[in-house]
Amino acid sequence: MCEVCELAKSGKLLYSDDYVVAAMHPKPTVKGHVLVFAKEHHQIITQVPQAVLSQLFDKAKMMAGFVFDALQAEGTNIIAPNGTIAGQTDAHFAMHVLPRFANDGLNFDWQPKQYPEEKLDELLGLLNEVQVGEESFADQEIILDTEPKEVSSTVPPDKNYQLKHLRRIP
Ligand SMILES: [Zn+2]
Repeated sequence: MCEVCELAKSGKLLYSDDYVVAAMHPKPTVKGHVLVFAKEHHQIITQVPQAVLSQLFDKAKMMAGFVFDALQAEGTNIIAPNGTIAGQTDAHFAMHVLPRFANDGLNFDWQPKQYPEEKLDELLGLLNEVQVGEESFADQEIILDTEPKEVSSTVPPDKNYQLKHLRRIP
């Protein structure tokens, strides 16, 4: 069974409801490293139903507040890796809440680059043309309700654009 699903059953949870679980990362990269994930198994973010995703973000925010207060963190990163190249280690989408401390050794070092205006326009055009399933990005429905209404993904895995195109999933 999936290790993240196993973690949900460990009993060592920070938070749990019908849809979302928060737990200490079993192999933390920094003191207070928390995982927030859906109870239902989904590999990547686009498979997570919108209503559940809203809850994931909400609980990640809540956990960021907890670690801030409990551990006197000086900042937090909330990270959502998709695909091994992005640092995803389990085939179960999870958000990572990382408390940050001075000299904690974590390094998210990326350098801003100068990019020609026409290249940016070209990328904008490409992104605007992409279809996700039947819908374009511009047509994606935004759900503002806070209560989850559905728990099953409506996009079958073989139809999921992003899943098909991720190079590798753990
Ligand atoms: Zn799982």
